[in-house]
Amino acid sequence: MQRLKILNSHFITHNVKRFVLEKPPGFEYAPGQSARISINKKGWERKIRPFTFTSLQHWDYLEFIIKIYEDHKGVTSQLGKLTKGDELIIHDVYGTIQYKGPGIFIAGGTGITPFIAIFRALFESGNLRNLALLYSNKTTDDIILHDELTKMLGPAYKNVFTQEGVIGFRERRIDRKFLIETIGDFSSRFYVCGPKNFTEEICDALVSLGADPEFLII
Ligand SMILES: Cc1cc2nc3c(=O)[nH]c(=O)nc-3n(C[C@H](O)[C@H](O)[C@H](O)COP(=O)(O)OP(=O)(O)OC[C@H]3O[C@@H](n4cnc5c(N)ncnc54)[C@H](O)[C@@H]3O)c2cc1C
Repeated sequence: MQRLKILNSHFITHNVKRFVLEKPPGFEYAPGQSARISINKKGWERKIRPFTFTSLQHWDYLEFIIKIYEDHKGVTSQLGKLTKGDELIIHDVYGTIQYKGPGIFIAGGTGITPFIAIFRALFESGNLRNLALLYSNKTTDDIILHDELTKMLGPAYKNVFTQEGVIGFRERRIDRKFLIETIGDFSSRFYVCGPKNFTEEICDALVSLGADPEFLII
């Protein structure tokens, strides 16, 4: 368990906040891993929630990108109020999504966070190739790190919007029909991350279209 100071925090969309934390010496984690975190404030120390590292191991700070649910009155609503100098408690680090090779990445909302770490690591090492990202959000205002994703992935990055008509962008849900039209070859590896119903629906559709369940990283 480590108590870590917030070095910087600010909103990067209307409801998503970036946190930069001090990194203790020897602290280890890998792209796609998450930490169980609480707030070092009276009454909040034991309210622990999982969040994914978006920074890389060799950086000299830790970064998290967190959607603030103002109306839940839970941990993220408190995180929304924290500023520089406040402290978070990192309880432990655990593995979630691991990069296993090229494939198609499908993210919904903050489900992009493990992919950000994976893409950053591959981009830095010059190995970001033969992969594509389908990123679903309600509207353009909800996209996290659009410019960086565009820079890293170029034309392999596609946005999908469920609520907004934007010229030049796809405007619909990622469902079976969408997958048939967008992905020709279902023998690829697939990485899927997002809300539970999003991942379930997409994984069911992928398997029904011939994707190998062994090649699904959820
Ligand atoms: C392994 C893992 C990694 C994660 N990484 C990240 C990350 O990097 N960034 C990030 O932003 N999130 C991430 N999450 C999600 C994050 O943990 C939750 O958003 C967070 O726990 C919410 O805490 P809370 O106390 O504010 O809300 P809680 O009240 O605990 O609500 C938790 C969830 O329940 C649902 N919910 C509860 N009440 C309502 C309501 N009234 N209306 C609608 N929905 C409701 C929401 O979907 C919400 O996400 C991750 C989750 C997991 C499992």
